[in-house]
Amino acid sequence: MNLYIYNTLTNKKEQFVPHNHGEVNMYVCGPTVYSEPHIGNARAALIGDLFYRILSELFDNVTYIRNLTDVDDKIIIESDKLGVDINRLTEDITRVYQANMLKLNMLKPTHEPKVTENIDNIIDTIQKILNNKSAYIADSHVVFDMESFSQYGSLSNKKSEDLIDGARIKPEPYKRNPKDFVLWKPSSHKSCGWDSPWGYGRPGWHIECTSMIKSIIGNDATLDIHGGGNDLIFPHHENEIAQGSCCSSSDYCNYWFHNGIVLVDKKKMSKSLGNVISVSDILEVENPIIVRIALMSAHYRQPLNWTEDTMNNSRNIYEKITSSLEIESSMTTERDDKFIDLLCDDLNTPNALQYISKQARDAKRDSRVLPKLRHNCGLLGIKSNKITIDKSLVDKIESLISLREAARKNKDYIEADRLRDLLSDMNVALSDGSDGVSWKIKH
Ligand SMILES: [Zn+2]
Repeated sequence: MNLYIYNTLTNKKEQFVPHNHGEVNMYVCGPTVYSEPHIGNARAALIGDLFYRILSELFDNVTYIRNLTDVDDKIIIESDKLGVDINRLTEDITRVYQANMLKLNMLKPTHEPKVTENIDNIIDTIQKILNNKSAYIADSHVVFDMESFSQYGSLSNKKSEDLIDGARIKPEPYKRNPKDFVLWKPSSHKSCGWDSPWGYGRPGWHIECTSMIKSIIGNDATLDIHGGGNDLIFPHHENEIAQGSCCSSSDYCNYWFHNGIVLVDKKKMSKSLGNVISVSDILEVENPIIVRIALMSAHYRQPLNWTEDTMNNSRNIYEKITSSLEIESSMTTERDDKFIDLLCDDLNTPNALQYISKQARDAKRDSRVLPKLRHNCGLLGIKSNKITIDKSLVDKIESLISLREAARKNKDYIEADRLRDLLSDMNVALSDGSDGVSWKIKH
C-alpha cells in the first residue's frame, strides 16, 4: 500500500517514502494561543490527525509533532488589550484548544512542544545559524541573512523581487536587506523575554518551529512531512527551510502538505465581518463527530465552505454510519484495502466519506460488512458518540445490571432504583421482560 501526498515543494502528487525505513516523523504548525480556536485551526489539526492515522496504519513508528506557539506579537497585543497576564492568557487558550481537539476526537500528538519550554533550544539553533554566517547581529536583533541562502523561494516559487512581505513598506533600519527576517529581537516585556547572548529578548516566530523540530528529531535529521495551512507557505515555511538548511547539514524536509482555508458562506472568516466560528461555540450546539465530518467533507487542499448544507450533509452521514455501527456491540475490525487506497490518494476524504456511507447502507443488509466499516471509521476518527460501546463498557453495564437484579431479589428497592438511575445516566435503557432484563443504548 503506497501513500501519495501532493508535495508543495515539487508541485505534484508523489509517492511518500520515509527517509528511514518504517519510521516517519511529521510536524504540523499548531495554533498561536492568543484567542479562542476557530474552525480554521480545527481543520489544520484535523488534516494532521488524518495523516497521522493513515501513516500509523502503514508504518510501524510514526512521530507526530504539533506545536503550541505561546510566544508571539499577537499574544502580547491581546494580553495588553485584555489586561490579562501573558502566561494566564496562553495557558487558558491552550487548555481550551486541547479540550476542543480532544472532543473532535483528534489523537494526542507524540510531542506537543511549547515555545516557552524551548527557549534554550531556540537560542542554540540561532547560535548555529550565526556560526554558519547565515545571520548577523544588529541593534540587539539577530537577523537571518537572505544573501546566504540562494535556494530561498523553492516552496512558494517566489522570485527574489516578490520576496518582500507586501505589508512592510518601510524596511527596518537594522536590516542589511529588507528581505532579511528576524530570529531574535529585544523585548521590553517582563513576562515575555529571556536572557540571551544578544541581550534580553524573545525569538521570532519562524525560528520557533524550526528549533522545536530540530530539538525533537535531531539537528542533522530530515523531517519527512511538514504541514500547515496554505497561508503559512510564505513567509513562514520558506523561512523555516532557510533556517533549517543553515543550522544543519541535512535537508530540512522532504514532503510539504498545505490545507486550504475555511470559508463561512463563501466569505473569509474575520473579526470585522463577525463571522468567525469558534470551536467552543459550534460544539455547544453540535455533536463533535458531526463537526469532524464537516471538516473533512472537502478535499484538504481545497477551500472548505462552511454552510448550513455542509452541516446537514454531515449530520446525514453521521446518522447513516452510526445507525449501522450500533447494529451489534462486537468490536471486531477488519482492514479494508479499497478504503485505505482512497485515503492513500492524497487523503481523499470526500471519496472516503462517500465510500463509508455506502458501506453503512450495505451493513444494514449484510452484517459481515461491519468489521470493515468499523475499521474505516477508526481511520477517519469517526465514532458513534451517542455512546461508545466497547468491551469494558459492556462489562460495566452488565455488572451494574446484575447488582440491580440482586438488590431486587433482596427487596432493596432503593438500591435497585439507584442502580437503574446510574444506568440511565450512562444512556442505558433497561426493559424488564419475562425472560430477564434486556438493555440497549438510548439514542
Ligand atoms: Zn510553524
